[in-house]
Amino acid sequence: MLKIALTGGIGSGKTAVTQHLSALGVPVLDADDFSHQATRAKEPAVAQIAKVFGPGILNASGNLDRAALRQMVFADEGKRKQLEAILHPEIRKRMNEAASTLDAPYVVFSIPLLIETGQATDFDFVLVIEAPAALRAQRVGERSGLSAEDFRAITDVQASDAQRRQAADEVIINDGSLQALHAQVDALHRRLQGLVQ
Ligand code: ATP
Repeated sequence: MLKIALTGGIGSGKTAVTQHLSALGVPVLDADDFSHQATRAKEPAVAQIAKVFGPGILNASGNLDRAALRQMVFADEGKRKQLEAILHPEIRKRMNEAASTLDAPYVVFSIPLLIETGQATDFDFVLVIEAPAALRAQRVGERSGLSAEDFRAITDVQASDAQRRQAADEVIINDGSLQALHAQVDALHRRLQGLVQ
């Protein structure tokens, strides 16, 4: 089973692609889902996070205050690295365990911070989703009301398009309609199926 990593900047269309892959029957493992699982109350990572960030990062029922945590690490690179050092190995382990139970020609690991966390070489194939920054800003603005300023603050700490391209085996440019995006995904699906036969 081929291990495919999918990545891209904020609002590039990762979810639009993984939704279509799921519809094609491809198993998709999303790092964000595993991050949520790993940070549920009573999970070992939560105790480690509380040790670093203080017990105030937990609410009364022992759940992480994700918004407060996001704020803390956003403003402080050292803290962000500490959080990543706790979370990322745990997320990787859980994703690999989930993949080991699957039986399919290929599995897609959707990892927004693939490049930033130096994981690209762990995979057989790296798929990058790309769209012009202005279009991404517009799409996420329409989706969640994110301001242009907040969009820029996020892209400033993410890898650049050039860095992602350097790691890519294939780049899908998502600058047209959803139909056009799906057609590109269909073509890649056929190619990846061909690779394992
Ligand atoms: P994030 O990094 O924030 O998780 P993402 O990379 O998963 O974002 P999506 O959520 O797939 O990106 O896309 C961002 C928004 O743009 C969504 O509202 C989505 O429906 C919309 N979108 C994505 N691709 C297209 C497209 N080709 N045409 C129109 N809208 C699109």
